[in-house]
Amino acid sequence: AHLDRIGAVDEKVHAFLHVDTEGALRAARAVDAKRAAGEKLGPLAGVPLALKDLITTEGVPTTCGSKILEGWIPPYDATVTKRLKDAGVVVLGKTNMDEFAMGSSTETSAYGPTGNPWDLTRIPGGSGGGSSASIASYQAPLAIGTDTGGSIRQPASVTGTVGVKPTYGAVSRYGLVAFSSSLDQAGPCARNVLDTALLHSVIAGHDPMDSTSIDAPVPDVVAAARQGREQGIAGMRVGVVKEFAGEGYQAGVEQRFREAVEVLRGLGAEVVEISCPHFTYALPAYYLIAPSECSSNLARFDAMRYGLRVGDDGSHSAEEVTALTREAGFGDEVKRRIMLGTYALSSGYYDAYYGQAQKVRTLITRDFDAAFAAVDVLVSPTTPTTAFPIGERVDDPMAMYLADLCTIPSNLAGNAAMSVPCGLAPEDGLPVGLQIIAPPMADDRLYRVGAAVE
Ligand code: GLN
Repeated sequence: AHLDRIGAVDEKVHAFLHVDTEGALRAARAVDAKRAAGEKLGPLAGVPLALKDLITTEGVPTTCGSKILEGWIPPYDATVTKRLKDAGVVVLGKTNMDEFAMGSSTETSAYGPTGNPWDLTRIPGGSGGGSSASIASYQAPLAIGTDTGGSIRQPASVTGTVGVKPTYGAVSRYGLVAFSSSLDQAGPCARNVLDTALLHSVIAGHDPMDSTSIDAPVPDVVAAARQGREQGIAGMRVGVVKEFAGEGYQAGVEQRFREAVEVLRGLGAEVVEISCPHFTYALPAYYLIAPSECSSNLARFDAMRYGLRVGDDGSHSAEEVTALTREAGFGDEVKRRIMLGTYALSSGYYDAYYGQAQKVRTLITRDFDAAFAAVDVLVSPTTPTTAFPIGERVDDPMAMYLADLCTIPSNLAGNAAMSVPCGLAPEDGLPVGLQIIAPPMADDRLYRVGAAVE
């Protein structure tokens, strides 16, 4: 049924870069055969899922939305892919994304933009717009995204779906094509909080293949979602981040956010205002740290190891082939970040830019520590505006970067955060997201609060 739905609508939505019809049918039949034989089935046996195209899949193309990886077929599965398969999940295909996950609109994809199912002339968020659009258009009930600065939560917000960035280290990064290794985190996307929790519980857990993977029990997010739904959140302390309001926030987004806070109060939560003074500096710090790490991570695309190779006709040196391939294979945003990062890391500038940004990162983490000493969770709008029109911000990187104003602090500090729908903005009828933020390894609190308010 989901493959039929993809066939019927994806020409318009363009959520998928690759649909693995054969592989999906094979996996579904394998589940049927197991069931018929009376064998034990995995927790998500037979449930279809869409996978962001930076998660490696053995035998299935993985492009990261870039020309430089066109034609690359990974020889192995990421830990996330393997865990999904072990749980019986049927992977439908790979979803569109901003090139190497750099963007907030899916427009930097080398394979063309994805439409927002609510209005196809608008962006589905980014970088994981293919994943959010696939679930919002009922092409898949579940999807996996990755969130370096907001790429799970912002797409969830603008498509009226649920997305979670788990605690950094909760989900293995092994087999995820790296953008910014100290920020990247894979996480679950679905149309409601309980489905998101079920997917979370399958992908999270310690992995010796990732040195930053946390070796501790995964909080019971499924029980927390059920608890939120059935018992609510009486007695929980909720902090409203003071810095996330005012100039640049759409009136309807602020209105729905304020109403959501009243709903939380009505459910018995104690609501207080919290100031996190250093959050104002999160965006500039992120745009030094993320490009710095990306300039190093993307050095591996040298025309020798993967995908595209340009100028390999005997008339060019190996160095020239690398340069020609990177020139042709990377898009403008990726090049901008590589240049910015290389500059920020160069000797003489390192202390002034990268070093300074790392200090700001510590101050932001301390803001969170102080806040979580007073409250159980923090809340804010997920993103300042609803889905903007395709093309509106492509020539204005600063305007694009502002979409992640509220999501970036949690990547810098490594804590857990969720976006859950909180109504439609009155002025344009488009979805608004409520962001819920919890301390590291307290991901269960997101699910309790999210399930109570959805
Ligand atoms: N939009 C942010 C960026 O462009 C975040 C991207 C992400 O989370 N992958 O870097």
